[in-house]
Amino acid sequence: MLIVMKPSATGSEIDAVVKVVEAVGFRAHPMPGATRTAIGITGNEGPIDGRRFENLAGVAEVIRVTKPYKLITLDLRPDKTVVRVGDATIGDSELAIIAGPCAIENREQAFAIAKTVQKSGARFFRGCVWKPRTSPYTFQGLGEKGWEIMSAVREEFGLKIVTEAVEESHVDLIEKHGDVIQIGARNMQNFSLLKRAGRSRLPVLLKRGMAATLEEWLLAAEYIMAEGNYNVILCERGVRTFAQHTRNTLDLASVPAIRRISHLPVIVDPSHGTGTAYMVTPLARAGVAAGADGLMIEVHNQPELALSDSAQALTPSQYLQLVAEVRAIHELVSSNGIAVSESQHAPADR
Ligand code: PEP
Ligand code: MN
Repeated sequence: MLIVMKPSATGSEIDAVVKVVEAVGFRAHPMPGATRTAIGITGNEGPIDGRRFENLAGVAEVIRVTKPYKLITLDLRPDKTVVRVGDATIGDSELAIIAGPCAIENREQAFAIAKTVQKSGARFFRGCVWKPRTSPYTFQGLGEKGWEIMSAVREEFGLKIVTEAVEESHVDLIEKHGDVIQIGARNMQNFSLLKRAGRSRLPVLLKRGMAATLEEWLLAAEYIMAEGNYNVILCERGVRTFAQHTRNTLDLASVPAIRRISHLPVIVDPSHGTGTAYMVTPLARAGVAAGADGLMIEVHNQPELALSDSAQALTPSQYLQLVAEVRAIHELVSSNGIAVSESQHAPADR
């Protein structure tokens, strides 16, 4: 159920509707937009009789939602969500670049890479402190010791810190020292982790699961939003297919597909999407041309010595060249309005 308020509805009318929704035992999610506020309702197991809301002051219409998602949709919020991370943003006119090593290895490595990331004009530094690895015998990340280095990078370079929470307790530390909580592909359906991130005040970067359909991925985002955290960034990182020429198959069609359904920003990770350095730049170009709001790129000062994902790490000069190229593409795409074309929007699902 979705309650659309009149453009003229006042703050106190919106508050009054929220109170009624809560009084009948549901959760209200008011989403202010450029022209009107809509209030999503969750917490109901069956259909709700919407007529009780229709006559409340300021209500324009009550819409029954038949799709499985309620909060990620353009019906609730026709304007794109812009995620604000301090003075940096993801989802507005600027292309967001999140770059850094696969994992934080030591201070010298992190600082050398952060210098390159800062030089590129990117605002976000990525790097795993906890490293989910396929094999238990490979480098698992520095763990809590890595935070000392991360905090120093944040302080020294003014970059926003994006790192993965592999378990719920990690969210506490990211809240203390970091800026964006990453949920990795392997944890896309770790529902208790999603709910914990949903109770955080920090934005959440949600990677697509390795075999997740679009609907499963969007429902994972719903888990976070249903807890009250609306600052979710979706990240396409490829899915497992029969292809052997690439680590994953980067599904760039998900970018326009999400645009058609959701107001959430979507970024592309061609590093994990391909697993091979020579493919990263071409796929980064394509991701931006497809309308992505940003990119996640792995870069290393000495890729050949990287303790994880060595084959996909760009050198600093390859990375700087990539950023220059994708900025030019983004300029072209956004000046033509291709990326956010209204014609791509689906008719409202009622
Ligand atoms: C990562 O970004 O560090 C990572 C492990 O990626 P993914 O979860 O997409 O495999
Ligand atoms: Mn990696």
